Amino acid sequence: MSSVNHVTLNHGRERATVHHHPWIFSGAIRDVTGSPGVGETVAVCDAKGTCLGYGSWSPASQIRVRMLSFSPDVVPDAAFVRRRVAEAVERRRMFLSGGETDACRLINAESDGLPGVVADFYAGTAVVQLATAGAEFWKREIADALMESVPGCAGVWNRSDVAAREREGLSQETGLLAGAEPPELIEIHEGAIRFLVDVRKGHKTGFYLDQREARAAVGAYARGAEVLNCFSYTGGFGLAAQAAGARAVTHVDASAEALSLAKRNSELTPNPDGTAVDFLVADVFKQLRLYRDQGRSFDLIVLDPPKFADTKSGLMRATRGYKDINLLAMKLLRPGGILATFSCSGAVTPELFAKVCAEAAFDAKRDMQVVARTRQAADHPVALAFPEGLYLKGLILRG
Ligand code: SAH
Repeated sequence: MSSVNHVTLNHGRERATVHHHPWIFSGAIRDVTGSPGVGETVAVCDAKGTCLGYGSWSPASQIRVRMLSFSPDVVPDAAFVRRRVAEAVERRRMFLSGGETDACRLINAESDGLPGVVADFYAGTAVVQLATAGAEFWKREIADALMESVPGCAGVWNRSDVAAREREGLSQETGLLAGAEPPELIEIHEGAIRFLVDVRKGHKTGFYLDQREARAAVGAYARGAEVLNCFSYTGGFGLAAQAAGARAVTHVDASAEALSLAKRNSELTPNPDGTAVDFLVADVFKQLRLYRDQGRSFDLIVLDPPKFADTKSGLMRATRGYKDINLLAMKLLRPGGILATFSCSGAVTPELFAKVCAEAAFDAKRDMQVVARTRQAADHPVALAFPEGLYLKGLILRG
């Protein structure tokens, strides 16, 4: 394809691309023809000049190209992008046909062949987050394709207010991209649980859809339990415990706003066994220490903290944070109790996370068993060629 600019890789640096890894770092590039525009499609060639495929040009980022096509014969154009969107949506048919839930991830970035593009669906509204120059370049096509391919999609809202855009030289952007304005709060359900989602100001695109399977796993241990739901956000795990017949649930979060939504969600969600529900605006690190000093204990503790490590350099601080809260939680756990503990830091591997929890158990003088491992839900798949796509992992431990 002669109309696109060419990027030629250094000798020996084609390996990842040949194996369909989507990222090409600046250091792998030998030279570039012309001056491709931000987010424009470039052809990627090995040192001998053989075309390996096509990707989006990110001149400001260390990840200089993100591959869209690994075939020299398939040049990404508007129809290509629309097809990728439609294929990703088609893979979520089981979620979109109603029943168990009316909210799911529609596009999971690299792992769905659309680097930098995230789209989530909340009962009639699609919310997109475009993190890279290439994603931004194809914004119009993505929004139109979502309107077309998602059954019952009334509008597409843009939540591209992520820090990652700075690394791409892009400013933050939010607003309506297509169709109708979303309501202020969108009510979604996950089985019997009801959540109100604020797509304009909520975390991520509004909600943590990635913990759906883990919420169900935690619910299975909740019957009759006294539950401490740390980092509760809008209720998540605690609502699963309530619907499953917990004796009591205490939601703890630093955000009063998140907790006021958690309270409303708790009122909307069935409470078949009259679970006593409590909402505490507090710093979890301090609250766990306070409970320890008071000699409090719980049957089921959930630790779902925000990302502690963004990069590999933040790893030491992150592991200290994970160890601290897990150690404290283990001390508060009644014998035979369950600790559901999570890490959404991509830089923390499942192995490292398990090791940190093992060290915490050692220091807490508790022998713990792993009864289940969780990961991001199935609508957040990980391409085998892109292991970086796995960010969320969890351990369900028995004390
Ligand atoms: N468990 C939730 C998602 C948690 S997101 C769910 O399933 O939906 C992380 C939450 O931690 C956010 O709501 C944030 O407000 C809260 N948070 C961050 N740091 C905190 C701290 N030190 N103490 C208490 N809450 C904190």
